[in-house]
Amino acid sequence: MYKLNQIVFTKKNHVCGSNKWKVIRVGVDIKLECLGCKRQIMLSSFELDKKLKPTLSKKEIEFLEEYEKES
Ligand SMILES: [Zn+2]
Repeated sequence: MYKLNQIVFTKKNHVCGSNKWKVIRVGVDIKLECLGCKRQIMLSSFELDKKLKPTLSKKEIEFLEEYEKES
């Protein structure tokens, strides 16, 4: 399940080069905002499950830790 304000990492980069997204709406569909360019997309949680990286890199884990400290 996805939580509001959760950060997720996609396997493929967005057109802006970032693969980090913030969950800004949860429900039947999930709304994500790209942390790189602030563009928003909407997709089902099933689609999102398939797009996300199964394991995070060290850099991504560090980013998450930093992000949680700030918020
Ligand atoms: Zn972007």
